Amino acid sequence: MESTIYTGAVLFAGVDESVTSNSAVWVRDGLIAYAGTAEGLPETPNDSQVIDASGQFIMPGMTQTHAHLSFADASPFAIGDTAVEDATIIAVGNAEKMLSSGFTAAISFGSTYKIDVALRGAIESGRISGPRLLAAGRDLGATASNVDSKGGLSQIADGPWALRQAVREQRRDRVDVVKIFIDGEAINPTNPPGELSFCDEEVEAVVSEAHRRKMRVACHSRSAAAVKQAVRAGVDFIGHANYLDQEAIALLAARDQVCVGPSIAWEVQYVAQCESLGVSKATVRAQGYEREIEATIASVEKMRAAGIKMVVGGDYGISIAPHGTYAKDLEYFVDLFGMRPAEAMLCATRNGGSAFDPKGRVGILAPGSVADMVLVDGDPLRDITVLQDHQKLTVLKSKVSLVSDFGDEEL
Ligand SMILES: [Zn+2]
Repeated sequence: MESTIYTGAVLFAGVDESVTSNSAVWVRDGLIAYAGTAEGLPETPNDSQVIDASGQFIMPGMTQTHAHLSFADASPFAIGDTAVEDATIIAVGNAEKMLSSGFTAAISFGSTYKIDVALRGAIESGRISGPRLLAAGRDLGATASNVDSKGGLSQIADGPWALRQAVREQRRDRVDVVKIFIDGEAINPTNPPGELSFCDEEVEAVVSEAHRRKMRVACHSRSAAAVKQAVRAGVDFIGHANYLDQEAIALLAARDQVCVGPSIAWEVQYVAQCESLGVSKATVRAQGYEREIEATIASVEKMRAAGIKMVVGGDYGISIAPHGTYAKDLEYFVDLFGMRPAEAMLCATRNGGSAFDPKGRVGILAPGSVADMVLVDGDPLRDITVLQDHQKLTVLKSKVSLVSDFGDEEL
C-alpha cells in the first residue's frame, strides 16, 4: 500500500467555495482517503510518507472540458490542415503541456484524424504524460456546416441514417465523445451562428445512436436556437452558448446533467489579435465578434442566476490562444463574467470533473476520489492568474485509471 500525507497547506477541496487553512490530505493507493483539517486526520499507517506543504495552496486538478489536443497552434483559418504525422507529434507535446498546466482531465471537443484515441491509449498505458482523456473522433457535421471542408477534422454526413452510420464508425474507432456542429461561426459566411446546419431529426439520431453505443455527445451551439435543438435532443456537453433567450435558459435548467462551457477565449483573442491573422478590426466588428462577447457576458449572467452547471475550457490550440494558456479561462470567468475566484475554480474543478466522470471521482478532494491535485505556490483566490504560471504549479496525477485503453469504463 502507498500512503502519503500532505500537511499544512491551504486546502480548496473543490466541494464548495470554502478553504481550510491548516489542512491534511491523505492519499492511499492513488485515492483520497481524507481531506480536511489537520486535527481531523484519522490514524494513518506508520510508514506513510509525510510531505510538508506549508505555505502552499492545494486544490483538485482541473478539467479542460473543450480540449483539442490534436490542434497544432495553427491559424484558426487552417485548422485541420496540419499533416497527420506532424499533428500527432505535436499532440504528444500538447498532452504533456496540458497536464503541466494543472489540467489533469480533459474532455475532447473534436480531434483531427484519430489522434485523440491514440493519445488516450498512450496516456493510459503510461507511455506519454497527459491528462485523463475522453477522446473524440473527427467533428461530425452536415454538408455546408461549419466543419465542411476542414481537412483532417471533418466527417460529413447528411440524414439520420448516414449520421447513425458515422456514429457507429466512431464507436468502431473507440471514441468516447461524438462532437457535432449545430450552428456555425461569424467568420463563415455559409454557416453563421443561428443558422442550424442539421434538422432536429438528424441531431436526435446522432444522440440516440451515440448514447446507445456508450458514447457522449458534445456540440458547438452559439445561438439560442442551436442550444435548444441540442438540449431537446439530449446532447451532454454544450460548447459556446453565446446568445441565450429565456426559453433556452429554462431548457438548460431543467436538465441537471448538462454542462455548458462558454469558451470565450476565441472571441476575446480574435478581437485582440485579429491583425496578426491579416483581418482588420473593422472586419471583426462587422462580423459581430464584439457583440458576441457582450452577448456571452449577458448569457453567463442568466446561467449563473439559473444555477446551470458551467465549466471551463475552449478552443485552445490555435495561434491566438495556444496550448498551455488554458487557465486564462478562469481569469475570463472572474474579470469578464464577474465570478468570485472560488466560483470560477469550482467550474474548473468540481463541475468539470463531474462532467468528465458523472460518478464524482474527479475534480474534488474527498474520500474515494482520484488523487489528481495541484500544489500552487501562491493563492489563486487572491490572484486567479497565478494558475497561468506553470512554474508555480506542482501537478500530481493519480495512477488510478478510470478508463481502459479502449475507452470503456474499468472501475
Ligand atoms: Zn472547439
